[in-house]
Amino acid sequence: MTRRLLFVHAHPDDEASKGAATAARYVDEGAEVTLITCTGGEAGDVLNPKAGDIPKEAMAEVRSKELQDAVAAIGFTRSYQLGYVDSGYHEDPDDVPEGTFGRTPIDEPSRLIAGILRRERPHVVVTYPEDGGYPHPDHIMNHTVTMRGMELAEDPDAELDDAPGGDQPPWRVAKVYASSIFPSERVLTLHEALLERGLESPYEKWLERRGQRAEEAIDDTPDARIACADWFSRRDAALIAHVSQIDPDGGWFQVPRDLERSTYPYESYVVLRSDVPFERTEEDLFEGIDIAALDAAGGRVGSTAR
Ligand SMILES: [Zn+2]
Repeated sequence: MTRRLLFVHAHPDDEASKGAATAARYVDEGAEVTLITCTGGEAGDVLNPKAGDIPKEAMAEVRSKELQDAVAAIGFTRSYQLGYVDSGYHEDPDDVPEGTFGRTPIDEPSRLIAGILRRERPHVVVTYPEDGGYPHPDHIMNHTVTMRGMELAEDPDAELDDAPGGDQPPWRVAKVYASSIFPSERVLTLHEALLERGLESPYEKWLERRGQRAEEAIDDTPDARIACADWFSRRDAALIAHVSQIDPDGGWFQVPRDLERSTYPYESYVVLRSDVPFERTEEDLFEGIDIAALDAAGGRVGSTAR
């Protein structure tokens, strides 16, 4: 009986910066962990001064290769690239260029995702929050097409025969999470620990902005905290594999790993939808899931709790 987990990410490098240590932990514990990457990341600028010059037209190929290296570092069981064109970051949705992922009719990528879901039959899916986590059009789109893809995957009337895997029987995902990479509790914990050690905190500005929004009383307490300190090194190897995007002397590595391990050794998630009851204290993304029952019933067991 194999637990199956599937991540949907927007760009090459998102799989390294969101949930990589969780994925590596589940792989090592015998789960099948699948990755879907929606775009080629070709709109990305070179963010690592040590990566040298990469011409724009070579970017898609470079980032695809970097993705393969990161996938190997994390140990994903399987990886799919949907091949949509990176929209680039645009604050105004009207500026998103034609022909990019952000402008694609929603059902197109959703059908591809639905086919993969029917083929892979994951019990748990991880995507982004509704607002994308940060407002990159591809991250917002990632949430939308993952949610729509799951609807299509479980719908016996959805005609998906032309989508790879779409001819497989319908499959309902039991639990859906959004990655939460900077919940307040994590930022505050790391910030205080850095100051206590006499180090500079990269979170000063973040906390200022949060102070300004305090009256909105945002509750971003995670529902699930996955202890994965022993897999931080695999996450770091995946980050470093993205040579064009990640500066090994940059922000991603600013918090000393021993400090992170001893103060916030988790990756965090919020529940978007669950067929099983859950508490906001989960330590396992599969908590409450009866794998054998789901596998026997096409994923359709229990009632929708949220
Ligand atoms: Zn991204």
